[in-house]
Amino acid sequence: MSKLAILGGKPVIEKGHPELFQWPIVNEKMLKDVQEVLLTGNMSGTDISRRFEEGFAKWQKRKYALSHNNGTNALTAAFYGAGLGPGDELICTTLTYWASCLGALSLGASVVFCDVDPVTLQMDPASFEERITPRTKAVVVVHYKAMPCDMDRIMAIAKKHRLKVIEDVSHAQGGHYKGKMLGTFGDVAAMSLMSGKSFAIGEGGMLVTDDEEIYRRAVRFGHYDRIHSCYKKEEFADTLSLPVGGLKNRMHQMSSAVGLVQLEKYEKERREIDRAMKYFWKKVSDIPGLTKVYPKEKGSDKAGWYASHFMYDSEAFSGVSNKTFCEALTRECGTTVFPGANMPLHYSSLFSSFDIYGHGRPTAKLYLPNGVYPRKLSGKLPVAEKAGGTVINDLWFKHCDKEAIDRYAEAFHKVAKYHRDLLKINDTDRITGSIAFTKRKH
Ligand SMILES: *Cc1c(COP(=O)(O)O)cnc(C)c1O
Repeated sequence: MSKLAILGGKPVIEKGHPELFQWPIVNEKMLKDVQEVLLTGNMSGTDISRRFEEGFAKWQKRKYALSHNNGTNALTAAFYGAGLGPGDELICTTLTYWASCLGALSLGASVVFCDVDPVTLQMDPASFEERITPRTKAVVVVHYKAMPCDMDRIMAIAKKHRLKVIEDVSHAQGGHYKGKMLGTFGDVAAMSLMSGKSFAIGEGGMLVTDDEEIYRRAVRFGHYDRIHSCYKKEEFADTLSLPVGGLKNRMHQMSSAVGLVQLEKYEKERREIDRAMKYFWKKVSDIPGLTKVYPKEKGSDKAGWYASHFMYDSEAFSGVSNKTFCEALTRECGTTVFPGANMPLHYSSLFSSFDIYGHGRPTAKLYLPNGVYPRKLSGKLPVAEKAGGTVINDLWFKHCDKEAIDRYAEAFHKVAKYHRDLLKINDTDRITGSIAFTKRKH
């Protein structure tokens, strides 16, 4: 009989370590401050949010920070702020969460997808440049899975073609590329601060920029109660200072109260995560077929290690799929180890043929010239389409408890050692030869 837990053996970790994975870390001050918001009935104000913005802007070394009720709306406000509108094309990688680009459609713009690097899974600068047309207005750069993008090349291409650069920092708050903080390269950055992300405050998002006009437009888009402070009366006369996006994007002040405390402790917590993850990686570094992914440039880092990944080479594991490998790991660890990356977005008809608003034609090409189709502009995206089968997501350790982490490393070693036993499992990915198995000999 196999020793693997998935086949009836004894798991390496029988009693789990929930405190090791618990997120966010809630302290006394947070409880007290949130309670105060509640007891004073101050949930819908902006005073705490403004203090949070001030602190956030200072941390990010940006002139303006504008809090939002979630990252999705902060991103759409950033698109509007950057002037994205009807007939414009926005370039985005296909391998990301939908909110990185989907809001562009409601502004009348189209999304053109580009491919990613097979190892880092970040925007492939050459693929980005190939997709630029005279209608391309902006690029949204997602620092995916806590990795920084190749900002030197991306910024040079954007500059050459006079494109606006929007950074989505939802996976890497406070991260760096060559010593410079992510979110400070482009014209504007937006990020999610929801509970699952590294900088977690509850539902919430932040927009940061140095550009006064982008800030003003983002305010005007969805912050009706601040328009007076940014616009002169004659500028909004006919609109009567109503929000032009018809949106109300204000942050819940219980979230901003949490955010203020996170600002005090986030850097310390992310350093602890860094220590824990690097310790774990050292312990599993001798497993052939698992390749660590970390930025190579000096001064670059992974902030918070949100959804951090390994490359998984199925050939090194006798053709066992990453899905089955992760199921075996999950059974050994008593906590889920996830395979894969986000579903490539170009598969969704929203970005090509779907009529969202009843115009009688696809929303995604509403304002594009006849004969121009977003799906065709995106073209082939072979790397992103295969990425799902080549990735294993890290366990996300929040504390550097070496004794406990050793046990998880042991689980990884065990599954690697006995991986051939997994060939007994009905592995549909292996049988159909899909995803990762194009090169495999049966
Ligand atoms: C989470 C996420 C968002 C959206 O943020 P919400 O706060 O959930 O609305 C946007 N982009 C990426 C890459 C994300 O992971």
